[in-house]
Amino acid sequence: MIEVDWARLKAHELRKLANENAVVILPIASIEQHGPHLPVMTDTRLGQEIALRAAQKAYSRRAVVVAPVVWSGLSEHHMPFGGTLTLSHDTFRRVLRDLIDAITRQGFKDILISNSHGGNIIAMQQILDELTPISEATLVATTYVMEAGEDLSKHLEDQPGVMHAGEGETSMMLVCEPELVDTSNLDKIASPETEGDFLSVGRSSYRWRPFVHMTENGLAGNPVRSNAIKGEKMIEAGARAIAELILDPKTWAPAKDLRLPGTGGVPF
Ligand SMILES: [Zn+2]
Repeated sequence: MIEVDWARLKAHELRKLANENAVVILPIASIEQHGPHLPVMTDTRLGQEIALRAAQKAYSRRAVVVAPVVWSGLSEHHMPFGGTLTLSHDTFRRVLRDLIDAITRQGFKDILISNSHGGNIIAMQQILDELTPISEATLVATTYVMEAGEDLSKHLEDQPGVMHAGEGETSMMLVCEPELVDTSNLDKIASPETEGDFLSVGRSSYRWRPFVHMTENGLAGNPVRSNAIKGEKMIEAGARAIAELILDPKTWAPAKDLRLPGTGGVPF
């Protein structure tokens, strides 16, 4: 198997990958509570697994290297349950900016931020809004749960999609770290049904609330029918979606410039 893990490569091998115009996947995740049955590394571990498998899938058509997972994400909303480490928005922005800068200075031109934690989504997009006009690299970001969408949720029996520490994440962790999953009480820990999105009311409002607003024990969904067979299918679906995104020429195509002569003036 080809080595795609940045941390396991030697400097001269990474210089060669930059010369070959390899894509860099920069996974971003969290260390946060995941209910009574999953370890706090869940988002970090799953994000790493999906990124490494995606790189392997894409490699025959385009070289890909996976940077170490940025485990330190935005998890303030999970702090009340304990076990959670979080950054401030300002620090998170600076960490990503500096890592993207370090990757770009080595000559890599296409960087995919592959996110595996819901709390990072808005900040990740804001960071790209800020960096893209000044970065020499093409910056693209996605969250595997959304990128794979229906290909993930079709494997779930007791919840509509991947939810925090529910059937999907538990199944995938039974593949990646089975000895760290406590399966002794899976039939008793489902979260009560909650209405809609706990961060909104009405049609379009937004309100920040901690995760304790929607769950008694830190998980959302129902992990009772979690198993490694569906977990394996879900990890593969997530990796496939990321690989397809990497291989789609539109992902890295330059922005069009439709300005008529005499209408522009500011380069972008
Ligand atoms: Zn999670």
